[in-house]
Amino acid sequence: MKKKYIIGNWKSNKDLEETKYWFDTLKTRSLQNNIINWDNIEVVVCPPIIFLPLVKKLRDDCDLPLKIGAQNISPFKNGPYTGEVSDSMIAEFASYVIIGHSERRTNFSEDDSMLSEKVKRANEVKLNSIYCIQDENTFIPEDVEIVAYEPVWAIGTGKTDTPDNADRVAQAVKKRWGGKSLIYGGSVDPDNIKSFIQTNNIDGVLPGGSSLDPNKFWEMIVNAAKI
Ligand code: PEP
Repeated sequence: MKKKYIIGNWKSNKDLEETKYWFDTLKTRSLQNNIINWDNIEVVVCPPIIFLPLVKKLRDDCDLPLKIGAQNISPFKNGPYTGEVSDSMIAEFASYVIIGHSERRTNFSEDDSMLSEKVKRANEVKLNSIYCIQDENTFIPEDVEIVAYEPVWAIGTGKTDTPDNADRVAQAVKKRWGGKSLIYGGSVDPDNIKSFIQTNNIDGVLPGGSSLDPNKFWEMIVNAAKI
């Protein structure tokens, strides 16, 4: 069976103490319930870029099979690009990167051409791109393995797409763009996670708000691992 992705996007949230608390809590919860079948799931946490080194250390110390992702990547390689964090810097700490989130398209004017450059940068250092699309008509660059379908109206609103419609979009994207994994994002929580990952075409989820609470994140891991 293909592994189901659970990819937590912290967005621009948490300070040092909250980050440590998140890992402590996840570790405590895992010790109380060590029957998780990690073979069924690929769990990725995407903190703000500045916390990547800390999160790598906390992940190593807590000895849980979590992967680390960045929320953004520079479209440029190292050089005179003040404020940017380049592919090779991210690859020191992470194995995934989110590209094309609607919040970046809207607030930072990221367009298809810039996003394609970001995918190229990620591929050059073997980072797995998690490429966000807003509907089945969004352009997807070549060489993206994981596509995240995230209807804008469902992000942070408590409203989800129906599992049936998300499954339909997943099927359409796979048919049009070929062998991708398709995950769903938009107000996923411990109660609704199963309804999405039990569908035929959805390969995981991208929770934002509910990934911030380590107890909710743990419950999502438990619920997804049972599938
Ligand atoms: C997201 O961060 O991409 C997201 C889908 O957020 P939320 O789960 O809060 O809707």
